[in-house]
Amino acid sequence: MRKLLLMISALCAVLTLVNCAGVPQSTGKGPVVLDIGHCIGAGGAVSARPVKGQRIQELEWWYRYVYYTKRVIQQAGYEVRVINRGNPPEPGTELAALARRARVLHMRKPDNGERYPSRYVRDRVASGIISADYAIYSRASCAVFLHHNSGRGWTRGASPSLIICNRHNGRRLGACLASSLENRILNHGMPNGGRGCSVVPRYVDADRSAGWMNACDDAGIPAAVVEAAFLNNAGHVAYLADEANARKYAEAVGHGIVDYLRRYGHERRRYRTDLSEPDEGSFGYAAESRRLEVPGAWHLL
Ligand SMILES: [Zn+2]
Repeated sequence: MRKLLLMISALCAVLTLVNCAGVPQSTGKGPVVLDIGHCIGAGGAVSARPVKGQRIQELEWWYRYVYYTKRVIQQAGYEVRVINRGNPPEPGTELAALARRARVLHMRKPDNGERYPSRYVRDRVASGIISADYAIYSRASCAVFLHHNSGRGWTRGASPSLIICNRHNGRRLGACLASSLENRILNHGMPNGGRGCSVVPRYVDADRSAGWMNACDDAGIPAAVVEAAFLNNAGHVAYLADEANARKYAEAVGHGIVDYLRRYGHERRRYRTDLSEPDEGSFGYAAESRRLEVPGAWHLL
C-alpha cells in the first residue's frame, strides 16, 4: 500500500512538472511539418470553372502534390512529416493511394469549423488547431500549412498572392517561401500581372489561421500558410491544372522551406515562457473562450 502511495505521489510530481514546464520548445532540430489544409468532407475552395473537365479543390490538389514538396525537402537532408487533421480517405480510392504515397498522418479530428483550444496553449482557440498541436508535440523545425486562396483580393486589383506567417518566429520562413514562389512560379509560367507575393504576419486569433500561427509561435516554431495561388483566377487555375506545372509549384514550396532551413534554421527561437499571461492576440473568439472556460479568459473578456 505504501509503495502504491509513493508511486502515486511520484506520478503526481511528474505531472505537475510537465504542467509547469508549459509548452514544449522547438530548437529547430525537429522535422518539417507539412499540413494539408482542410479535410475530407470539407475540402476547402474549389475553382469556379472546370479546366479539362476538372475542377481544382484545395484538399484534393494538395493530397496529389504534397509528395513533391516533401521530396524536395527530404532530398536536402531534412525529415518531413505530412499531416492532415481529418479522417483518412476511403480505402481503395485514388485519394487513399495519394495519401499513402505521401505517408499522410491523419489526426482524425475533422472539426467542421468548430473551434477548440490547443492542448499545449489553452488560450489559443481555433478550428484545426490540432495540426499546430502536432507541430508542437513533434518540436517541428517549422510548420507550413498548405492551402490555395479564393478571397476577393484578386478582383480588387491589390497584390493578392500572400504567405501568412507568425509574427515572432515566422517572418524569415514567410520571406523564403514568397521569394521561391516569385523566382520560380509567379510571372514565370503562372500569370500574376507582374505582381509579387507579400508576407503577412497575423496574430489576432480571430483572424483566420492566426490561432494556429500563435500556438506555433509560443513554442518557437516558425509557421506559414501558403495562399499564393487563387482558385478564382482563371490563369492560376489553368496553371495548377497542368501536371508538370503543379509539380513545379509544389516543389517551389519545398525549395522555399529548404532555403529557410539552410539560411536561418539555426537561429535562436523566441518562446512564450509565461503561459498564465495571455497576450493581445489571445481570445479573438471571446464567446468561445468563455464557453470553453479557457484559463485566463476572465480578466481579458
Ligand atoms: Zn484553404
